[in-house]
Amino acid sequence: MSGADSPAVLVVEDDPTIQAMIARCLKLYGYRVRTALRREDIFGAVDGRNCAAIVLDLGLPGDDGVEIARALRLRSEIPILMLTGRAGIHERVAGLEAGADDYIVKPFADEELVARLRAVLRRAPRAAARMATPQTLRIGQSVIAFETREIVGPAGRQRLTEQELSLLRALADSDGVLGRAAAYRFVFQRDWEPSDRALDVHVANLRRKFKLAGGDPEAIATLRGQGYQLRGAVAVPPGAGT
Ligand code: CA
Repeated sequence: MSGADSPAVLVVEDDPTIQAMIARCLKLYGYRVRTALRREDIFGAVDGRNCAAIVLDLGLPGDDGVEIARALRLRSEIPILMLTGRAGIHERVAGLEAGADDYIVKPFADEELVARLRAVLRRAPRAAARMATPQTLRIGQSVIAFETREIVGPAGRQRLTEQELSLLRALADSDGVLGRAAAYRFVFQRDWEPSDRALDVHVANLRRKFKLAGGDPEAIATLRGQGYQLRGAVAVPPGAGT
């Protein structure tokens, strides 16, 4: 992967040392690198489809990284990998809730950065492939529409992020219970560690969206010590409408 065809990664990091370190690492692995700090420059790069993913520092002066992640997610499905400090647990959760795809904790090794970035980039074409095989699941009064990426219910529509779609797909495909280890491999392409809260945050977001759409938030049940289970889901044949 090199040259003009390699995906450009937009690096948003105010610390010049860390920014240079990330840029050097990404270039070493064949990525093109762009940098931006001001909100309008970040949105401009995303709107112009000039980058394939964003590495976004959450600790930016003046501009709130979480707020930027939320604003980015409203306008684009671009993969967002957040950078946070070791102490930034609340910030990290807020970033995932805002729609970021994954996070990496400073300081990190080059290999870790590249592995996380590859994982979020890999999910984008897979999402496109899934679009070719639309599938709809009905759960009580609500419907999961994988093709249009939303939960539709009597109270309205809730748009789903890439991770939420992956997680729902994993839940729907699992035989009974989706264990944590399997969920992490499928949704995040990494091993689960007990301190990792990403899955819980995405499950909470999904339950909230079921509720906002007028569906049942308990459609995703927690099985203590085992994992999660999608309850009462029935496949809707193509053409049956939602
Ligand atoms: Ca910073």
